[in-house]
Order: sequence, then C-alpha cells, then structure tokens
Amino acid sequence: MDIKQYKGIHVYCEINKGKIIDNSLELLGEATVLKSKIAHQPEVTAVIIGFELDDYVQIVSEHGADHVVLVDDERYKEYRPDYFAEALAEVSNKYKPEILLVGATTKGEEIGPTTAMMVNTGMAAHCVELNIKENGEFVQVVPAFGGKVLGDILCPNHRPQMASVKSGLVSKQFFPGKVAKVERFNPDVKGYGDKIEILEVIDDNKVKVSLQSADLIVTGGFGIGNQEGWDKLEKLAGLLNGVTGCTRPALDEGWTDKDETMIGTSGVAIKPKFYIGFGISGAAHHTCGIKGAGTIISVNRDAHAPIFDVSDYKVIGDWEKIVDALIAKLSK
Ligand SMILES: Cc1cc2nc3c(=O)[nH]c(=O)nc-3n(C[C@H](O)[C@H](O)[C@H](O)COP(=O)(O)OP(=O)(O)OC[C@H]3O[C@@H](n4cnc5c(N)ncnc54)[C@H](O)[C@@H]3O)c2cc1C
Repeated sequence: MDIKQYKGIHVYCEINKGKIIDNSLELLGEATVLKSKIAHQPEVTAVIIGFELDDYVQIVSEHGADHVVLVDDERYKEYRPDYFAEALAEVSNKYKPEILLVGATTKGEEIGPTTAMMVNTGMAAHCVELNIKENGEFVQVVPAFGGKVLGDILCPNHRPQMASVKSGLVSKQFFPGKVAKVERFNPDVKGYGDKIEILEVIDDNKVKVSLQSADLIVTGGFGIGNQEGWDKLEKLAGLLNGVTGCTRPALDEGWTDKDETMIGTSGVAIKPKFYIGFGISGAAHHTCGIKGAGTIISVNRDAHAPIFDVSDYKVIGDWEKIVDALIAKLSK
C-alpha cells in the first residue's frame, strides 16, 4: 500500500428517516477541525449512500463538506450492511482518503469494520477524541484497560485511517451558503445478492427512551446491587420528572433492559442539565459519555471513587439511604 497516494478526509454520512443524522454532521465538523491541523489542508468529503440523494447535498455542504460523493441507486433504498459496506469500500478504493470517519451507531459499527476489512486497514472503534500529531499522524483516542486510561491508537502503515465516534463527543460546525462539488459514483456492488431478502422494516425507535432530550438523568451502576434497588432508582427518576440511565454492569445484570440508556463509549453521550449517579465508579468508558452534562452529582460509598473527579457535587455514603430519603421527601 503506497500511503502517500491517500489524501483527504472522508465522512460516511448516515441517513435515518429521511435526514442525515446529527452524528454524521458532527463528524463533518470534526473533519474540518482536523483539516485545519493538517499541513496539506485535505479536502473534506461527505460520502452518502442511499436512494434519491440530491436533497442531502446542501446540508452536508453547510456542515463542512468540500466535496460530496453520492452513491445513489435503488438497491440502497433499504439498509443492507453487505451493500453499504461494499459501496463504502469501493468509494475508498477509488478516492483513496487518508482518514475515514463513521458514526459509532448501530449501522456505523457494522459498516465501518466491514469496510476496514475490505480495504485492508484497521479501525479504532468508539473514539472519545481525535487529534493530529505535529508530524501529521492521525491520533485516535480510546479508553483502554477497563476505561482506567486513555490510549492513543495510530495506524501508520495502512490507509485509510479509520475511526468511529459516538454522537455528542465532537461538535458540528456551520458554513452557511457553502457549496460543495458533487460527484456521483455507482460501483458494481454484489454483496450477498439475493441470499438476503428484506421482508419487513420495523421501527423500534418508538419504544425507545430518549436520553438525548432528557433534562435530568438518574444513573445507576453496579453498586445498586439488585433489581429491588434498581426499581427504587426508577421511582426516584419518575418523581424528579427524569429518566434512568445505566452503566454497562447494570445493563448486563439485567436490572434494566433498556439497552439504549447505557451511557458511555459503547452507549450514548448525554447532555442533560442534571446527571445524578448512584453506585458508579467512574471508569473512562462511562465518564466520556457525561462530559456534556450540566451539573453532575455523584453518590458513592468510596471516597476515592474516580467518578468524584468529574463531579460537581460529591456525596460519600450509601446510595440506598439517600434514595430512600429523597423518595420519602418527594412523595410528600
Ligand atoms: C470496550 C469497552 C467498552 C465499554 N463501554 C462502556 C460504556 O459505554 N458504558 C459503561 O458504563 N461501561 C462501559 N464499559 C465498562 C467500564 O469499563 C466499567 O467497567 C463500567 O463503567 C463500571 O460500571 P460501574 O461503575 O457501574 O461498576 P463498578 O466499577 O463495579 O463500580 C461500582 C461502584 O459502586 C460503588 N458502590 C458499591 N456499593 C455502594 C453503595 N451501597 N452505595 C454507594 N456506592 C456503592 C463502589 O464503590 C463502586 O465505585 C466498557 C468496557 C469496555 C472494555
């Protein structure tokens, strides 16, 4: 692989319900920031795969794209990981970007690594920060060792350098009136052909709890200890007109089955006015998802718990006594 041939930053722009998702627009913004740190000022390209795509050009241009590649064909009308990943790999083979960013969404986590495998490169998943070193190398920051440290991932010998990032970790940028140049590219993708047949598309978003729009999130961790304890958190969240969020262990224990409420690198990044955490240690895998929260209040019986390092208010004590007292008071 002659890595010198690879120039430009590509952002795979995902469509959901007729709109480019915020995660992709944020990544376009981040691509413009990375561009400004690279000496040769690489072009930012939005790659959109789908059907009847012309209406999306303006929004990606105004969010930072210099160039738009449309892979527009009826075969992409419904999402299929085999077609989408192969199309993204073909775009990468043709345009040879040095960096390729995808959203750490359910689809992005499927298409990204598949594309990486197809173009013979690596991908750092769930990055919490992206940087450019002085020598121009792309640094992909991910939590490591159970979230206790942040590790810099480099991809020196392969291109593109691929990273996925959750929504909420990097910011959109606006370029009103910007007009990107548009190209159409229709690679001959084969995927698994008719071995896959889409029978029905079921929208499960209607039943999902949205943490993105909540002002107050009561979050529980492994310290909650059992289902009975979890039910108390749900009650408290209801009394406070909030919703519950969880850490990975609380979800794994089955105290909540709302997997969309897990906060952190593999879950969602949140921006509520208040985050109240009970029985949470504060691993970086979790705390990178609460960076955008307004006031952070944490309750832990361990005075040295790392969650206190990122909290505005620290309560050292047994979560249950505090939750019981709050429920009693609020119920009145
Ligand atoms: C690749 C990868 C991705 C990951 N992604 C995520 C992610 O997206 N989100 C996530 O949350 N985790 C994620 N994790 C797991 C993460 O590293 C931590 O293991 C997890 O966040 C710890 O959850 P916790 O704080 O609930 O549990 P623990 O670390 O076990 O902490 C429990 C805390 O409860 C306290 N406690 C116990 N009893 C009480 C009591 N009675 N009163 C008050 N406090 C009490 C303890 O002092 C302790 O601090 C990921 C891990 C990996 C490897």
